[in-house]
Amino acid sequence: AAAPAPNFLRNIVEHDLATGAHQREGLPSVITRFPPEPNGYLHIGHAKSICLNFGLARDYQGRCHLRFDDTNPAKEEQEYVDSIMDSVKWLGFSWENQDPAGGDAYLHYASDYFDRLYEMAEYLITAGYAYVDSQSAEEMAANRGNFNTPGVNSRFRNRPAEESLQLFRDMKAGKYADGEHILRAKISEDAMASPNMNLRDPAIYRIRHAHHHRTGDKWCIYPMYDYTHPISDALENITHSVCTLEFQDHRPFYDWLLETLAEGGFFKKPLPKQYEFSRLNLTYIVTSKRKLRQMVEEGIVDGWDDPRLSTLVGMRRRGFTPEGIQLMAERTGVTKSDGWIDFGVLEGAVREDLDPKAPRAIAVLKPLKLIVDNFPAGDSVECSSPVHPHHPELGNRTFPFTRELWIEEEDFMEVPSKGYFRFYPPIGDQPGARVRLKYGFVAECTGYDKDENGKVTAVHVNYFPDSKSGTDGANNYKVKGNIHWVSASAALEAEVRLYDRLFTDPQPDAGGKDFKEFLNPKAKEVVTAYLEPGLKDAQAEQRFQFERHGYFVADRVDSRPGKPVFNRIVTLKDSWGS
Ligand code: ATP
Ligand code: MG
Ligand code: MG
Repeated sequence: AAAPAPNFLRNIVEHDLATGAHQREGLPSVITRFPPEPNGYLHIGHAKSICLNFGLARDYQGRCHLRFDDTNPAKEEQEYVDSIMDSVKWLGFSWENQDPAGGDAYLHYASDYFDRLYEMAEYLITAGYAYVDSQSAEEMAANRGNFNTPGVNSRFRNRPAEESLQLFRDMKAGKYADGEHILRAKISEDAMASPNMNLRDPAIYRIRHAHHHRTGDKWCIYPMYDYTHPISDALENITHSVCTLEFQDHRPFYDWLLETLAEGGFFKKPLPKQYEFSRLNLTYIVTSKRKLRQMVEEGIVDGWDDPRLSTLVGMRRRGFTPEGIQLMAERTGVTKSDGWIDFGVLEGAVREDLDPKAPRAIAVLKPLKLIVDNFPAGDSVECSSPVHPHHPELGNRTFPFTRELWIEEEDFMEVPSKGYFRFYPPIGDQPGARVRLKYGFVAECTGYDKDENGKVTAVHVNYFPDSKSGTDGANNYKVKGNIHWVSASAALEAEVRLYDRLFTDPQPDAGGKDFKEFLNPKAKEVVTAYLEPGLKDAQAEQRFQFERHGYFVADRVDSRPGKPVFNRIVTLKDSWGS
């Protein structure tokens, strides 16, 4: 593989490696983590973070932890934990086999740290760095001030440490209702006047009488994200804690907390360092968990793994490849400035990944009957073509040429437009079009049938028996049109779902727009297609290039042995003008 392209994070890591900034006995010098909250399904934005964190570990012989940031009991569920693990593995990363001892050594849950987080909170209280605040939520909000106005100290800010400690223990013991008290950090005497709102006595523990998906009813106080995250990083010996830009203003608290706890003897230096990068914003999708949920619950899509969704389970079902997603993540780089990446970049990466490896196959998606009048009924001639044009070692597929074939509706015109080289009938004394039936014979159109509504129901041709592809005779026929077909008697009839982008607007939910106004009515079209007979053996998740159409995958949910259902992953060319 090519050496990874430089970016500011790799530069930092390389600098730290050169200076030994994170050298510690028995530990790699690069330890990263991917810290999802198990409150929903991962989406393509998370994939960027996964590729980045696991990628740094891979590129610098380090390791990357998967850590469930499960400190908010009300919103979290085991279902999401399982799905997140599946998606990380599917993307090609593992927290298991990195460890020489095997097992789940690098799989962590913030909830496993609840005891230690509590112990450190008691220390902070005792040392004068935290206090229990008993203001009402409204008072607290009012006293926080805003960007222009300094906050006002809580009247409980200077209560004796012993009093805070007793209250905190009573909070833990369940003596208070949700919201009655809260534990806040006291970073400095004038912290409530800090221009950084995140330093104005941030909450570090709150009361929540709620069942937790892993700790059950053991706790009724839960640590806040800003408190849990740095400590979890330090407990796991993380070196580079990579997050998105919105956490930039949280970094001073991150550093203060770990320095303070290191002084208290809880951690040894060097401490983990936080670095921020700009999140991935892809056009033509939405990634907000709330909006994804809304689409699922309102039936706008067919579930969390709907192939039109930006969820990784959806993208997997759509047929997007982990390698294509990794390529997109690498190509879009790591920067500190927010911007939009065109969805075409992801589609292009997926095409690029699939082109050299997807076996070719033939599919007629909008079928029209073609009758070869001079070909005897019941006869058949075997035709063949390479499984992949650039991989002769993969051999050939074979399929029969018979009297009745399926061709695409659009490969016939009653009255040809200018430059149309596919089938059209004789006009006046002009003969009908001669077209090559790819991998088969050249045929000349002699006429067509229509039903009472004027719809064309069949096209008639005569074929030239000496024109078979791959034979000397083929050279005697110079034709401009070259179309695909399948034998009507041998074809595999199959459901094919033609997916496209879910939205017609590149930023469907930007600036307060209602994304539901921009749903693409053509994002899903279901057709009954006729496929090359060999496709009956397609395995779930096997991907193909259907010639002239694009890349398709055998649906991993609805395919049955001998009866695959196909999803269009992406067309061969970008039709969105990007
Ligand atoms: P929500 O959608 O509810 O805001 P979240 O995006 O914060 O949730 P987490 O589970 O906390 O979801 O995310 C896990 C990690 O993935 C975090 O480190 C977060 O910064 C990162 N991440 C999330 N979205 C993106 C994105 N669009 N680009 C890059 N990284 C992302
Ligand atoms: Mg989050
Ligand atoms: Mg978010």
